[in-house]
Amino acid sequence: MVKVNYIYHSCFAVETDNALLVYDYWKDSQDMKLHTLIDNRGEKQLYFIESHFHEDHFNPEIQDYADARLLISYDTSKRRRIKPPVATAVLRPADIYEDECLKLYALRSTDVGIASLVSLSDGTTIYHAGDNNNWYFPENEEEHLRCSLDEMEGMFLSNLKEVRTITKAVDYVMFPVDPRLGSEMLRGVCQWLQQIQTGHFYPMHCWGRWDEVLSGLEPVKDLFPETEFDCSGAQCNEEPIFLETV
Ligand SMILES: [Zn+2]
Repeated sequence: MVKVNYIYHSCFAVETDNALLVYDYWKDSQDMKLHTLIDNRGEKQLYFIESHFHEDHFNPEIQDYADARLLISYDTSKRRRIKPPVATAVLRPADIYEDECLKLYALRSTDVGIASLVSLSDGTTIYHAGDNNNWYFPENEEEHLRCSLDEMEGMFLSNLKEVRTITKAVDYVMFPVDPRLGSEMLRGVCQWLQQIQTGHFYPMHCWGRWDEVLSGLEPVKDLFPETEFDCSGAQCNEEPIFLETV
């Protein structure tokens, strides 16, 4: 049994039979859901999985839990100065971490750091994109990208191929749906859903702009009827943020 709890921005707490996986913790929700889950974890092994060092994905508090396992990207280790043994594993794309609870494949991102695919012993698979997305900013390309739109798209499609070398279907997918992309907000999402059969899809990295995310996803739901879209983040009352770059 897996339960995916949306916390804030790109942070999720995923409960499995024997573990609590906390992804990209930046802030807790208003009702302190993350801290409640951590406090009530009982015998479950606590993990913090860090995709990259950016401010909106990181909180230094992850180092405060002595019994937690920190699986962090190489750039987080370097920029946030978290090294072994505080870090249980420092991960680069193509690295694999494995213990008694899970197997984690570190995968490429189109931004810094890694994306991750976790496989549980019962075969359940969980993907968290970090900042891996098709960052296709047609309106103000120069401002956002260090490469051309074609290069960005090529990189993203090649990252999808990398996922497909491991699996063509993922049960739980947490993926950016970022309104700053304007009319291209769902470009990477649809490419993902076309290539990877997805059980449950969780939008993230929405900057609290859930109205745009919810209305944008409506037609996508019809295109992929086998996928269950879970937009519970929309109920979390995040303040909408209108940033041009992060
Ligand atoms: Zn981010």
